[in-house]
Amino acid sequence: MMFAIFLGLPLLLLAMALFYMLVIYSPGAQRDWGRLPAKEDYVARHGSTCCRQCGAAQTLDVGLLRYTDFRRKILCAACKTSLWREEEQ
Ligand SMILES: [Zn+2]
Repeated sequence: MMFAIFLGLPLLLLAMALFYMLVIYSPGAQRDWGRLPAKEDYVARHGSTCCRQCGAAQTLDVGLLRYTDFRRKILCAACKTSLWREEEQ
């Protein structure tokens, strides 16, 4: 019985850590998000907050993986191009 607990708990923690890494944190999405410019950099490079692809001024603020994700991605409302990233405090 004790043996099962000693073996089971680390395995459970390992499974939770893996779940967090792959599903919640999602390294691939995190990397893509990190490649997006900050808003100031986007404005400095393109002259305004308008979409660089189609020129639309309206944007969408979406969470990276979930609606409530603190890692925000700003998309063009018209053509859905990723414009810049923001981080909620
Ligand atoms: Zn656009």
